[in-house]
Amino acid sequence: MTKSNIVIVGGGFGGIYAAKSLAKRLKKNSDVHITIIDKHSYMTYMTELYEVAADRVAPSAIQYDLHNLFSHRKNVSIVTDEVTGIDRQKKQVIAKNSRYDYDYLLLSVGSQPNTFGTPGVDEYGYMLGSVDEAINLKHAIEAHIRAGAAEQDPDKRKSLLTISVVGSGFTGIEMTGELLDWKKILAKENKIDPSEIRLALIEMAPTLMNMLDRKDADKGEKYLVKHGVEILKNTDVVSVGQHTIDFKGGDSFQTSTLIWTAGIKAADSIKQFGLSQGHAGRLLVNKQGQSVDDANIYAFGDVSLTDADGSGKGQPQTVQGAEAGAHVAAKNVALAISGEEPNAVFEGKYSGFVIAISSKYGVAHIGKNTHLSGFWAQAVKHMINFMYFFQITNAYYFWLYFRHEFFNTANERNLFHGYVSRQGNVLWSVPARLFLGAAWLVDVSHKVSGEGSWFVNKLRLSSFDWLVTNTTSGATPKSGAAAATAKAAKATFSLSYEYGHQPMLIFQHMPKWYYDVTKFMIPNTNMAFFMQKTMTILELLIGLALIVGLFTWLASAASVAFVVIFSLSSMFYWTNIWMIPIAIAAMNGSGRIFGLDKYAMPWIGKHLRHWWYGKEKAIYKK
Ligand SMILES: Cc1cc2nc3c(=O)[nH]c(=O)nc-3n(C[C@H](O)[C@H](O)[C@H](O)COP(=O)(O)OP(=O)(O)OC[C@H]3O[C@@H](n4cnc5c(N)ncnc54)[C@H](O)[C@@H]3O)c2cc1C
Repeated sequence: MTKSNIVIVGGGFGGIYAAKSLAKRLKKNSDVHITIIDKHSYMTYMTELYEVAADRVAPSAIQYDLHNLFSHRKNVSIVTDEVTGIDRQKKQVIAKNSRYDYDYLLLSVGSQPNTFGTPGVDEYGYMLGSVDEAINLKHAIEAHIRAGAAEQDPDKRKSLLTISVVGSGFTGIEMTGELLDWKKILAKENKIDPSEIRLALIEMAPTLMNMLDRKDADKGEKYLVKHGVEILKNTDVVSVGQHTIDFKGGDSFQTSTLIWTAGIKAADSIKQFGLSQGHAGRLLVNKQGQSVDDANIYAFGDVSLTDADGSGKGQPQTVQGAEAGAHVAAKNVALAISGEEPNAVFEGKYSGFVIAISSKYGVAHIGKNTHLSGFWAQAVKHMINFMYFFQITNAYYFWLYFRHEFFNTANERNLFHGYVSRQGNVLWSVPARLFLGAAWLVDVSHKVSGEGSWFVNKLRLSSFDWLVTNTTSGATPKSGAAAATAKAAKATFSLSYEYGHQPMLIFQHMPKWYYDVTKFMIPNTNMAFFMQKTMTILELLIGLALIVGLFTWLASAASVAFVVIFSLSSMFYWTNIWMIPIAIAAMNGSGRIFGLDKYAMPWIGKHLRHWWYGKEKAIYKK
């Protein structure tokens, strides 16, 4: 049997979904191979692009290496190349560097900003359709604000300090919201009053955010107005100059930064594909996702147009739409390969919309009747992103997302107003780490030798009464008696040792469930002697690890675990409970300062990542 080549052009939301789905459906079919061709070696997490443009996160935070995403799929290859055409006779994809044979071709090349031919937008406007454009926009804003802050001519100053966004769809609103956060930082950096930086949102329609329910959209608009965004509705941009926007009717507006988010169209590259195109250049497909010209070519996502309602406008271009289309195409290709009729159809059901307006606010309409705003809408947006990492089964990018969205965000630019973020110096937790390590070593020093040694065959776990009564080794009556006395004397609850008072055990008696579990695990003295020695060695290792700062996180977590075990075993006092918060504090990367973790952790992280996901490259070849 000959191999079937499935080629997917575009490794964005739709392409990745289709590849994951096909790789899973066809994993037992060794005659099928899937190739993803993308002009980049990474997937761009488009929905967070505005965070890069407004300097909340680094570009790398939204670039997910394609090889990493498919490292455990033997039936998937990644190729970095830019597709320029299709040879349908030869069934080949034509790209800048090579040609690629296909039996089934899936197109998901996304969209790009649409200027609608408005004069001046290409020359003077800034777009937000790729990582490069986001970086370019960020640099432009920084340069304009810097120049504006130093400009003494009032008109020029005003123009340089005015940022205008044209269009109030997802991109325009999310960008404007993000600028609300960033403008305070920009003002501080450039030593000007934040009110001098003007934000204007220009919309041709009489209302904003027209993909949302009116009530939700109005809430979003209220938030923007409250935070100082000037909103110009019913305003049609007819041309753009270096420092001006001209409106229909003759008015104009002074601005040096124009962000054009007025609409999107299918990626220009598809003009050469020789397939029928509809509204905004989108590829016309039937309900099965097949091109109307060729049943072996499928298209989905922003580039495709399924005319479900007969209006000719097509389905909304969203992540959900891209994934729904990818699902249909993947299912139909798998059916076709197994000789069945490709009968899955695109239904175009959308479960709602969420729009972030700054890092802390948002509006959402989910399902039929759930309307959210503020914190909860933002929380839903994060939940959707979390779910995406489960969908692509990638723990590494999930962890990175947590770090850049919650733990490592600067200037309080996250949902929790920076309360969960760390930018401070971990130097201050080093004494805590050293003290905790010393505490373990002092404790263990009594157990390794001498009269109280835990390395001799004498029972030290005196609270394990089933061993005390059964023991033939003469379990130290002294320690048993001491424990009994300690328990018998009137103990005082305190979190520090109070002179003249008997400290209180956390558990006077082992909880019943723990007693049963321990009795099962340590049924006799031989096992008890083994456990005593093992625990002592572990304590010693924890102490040493904390002192030298090696595997500090693990040693600290083990410290917490040991305190819990000792407490449940009725062997630990409230006066020592400080070990838990101190251990948690030491988990804060304290081993990287004056500790070996500084070298060990990056080395281990890098090698583990390469072993599990492979080494990231700028170009992948078949
Ligand atoms: C700033 C912004 C915010 C957004 N916010 C939201 C949101 O909150 N919710 C929502 O649902 N949607 C949102 N969207 C829309 C959403 O990102 C898109 O609907 C989605 O990315 C479409 O997926 P796709 O697979 O069709 O295209 P994409 O995800 O854009 O992927 C296309 C891929 O094709 C590759 N490619 C393009 N041309 C070629 C070529 N010639 N050769 C090889 N490779 C090529 C590109 O490199 C890219 O990787 C937002 C979009 C933007 C720009």
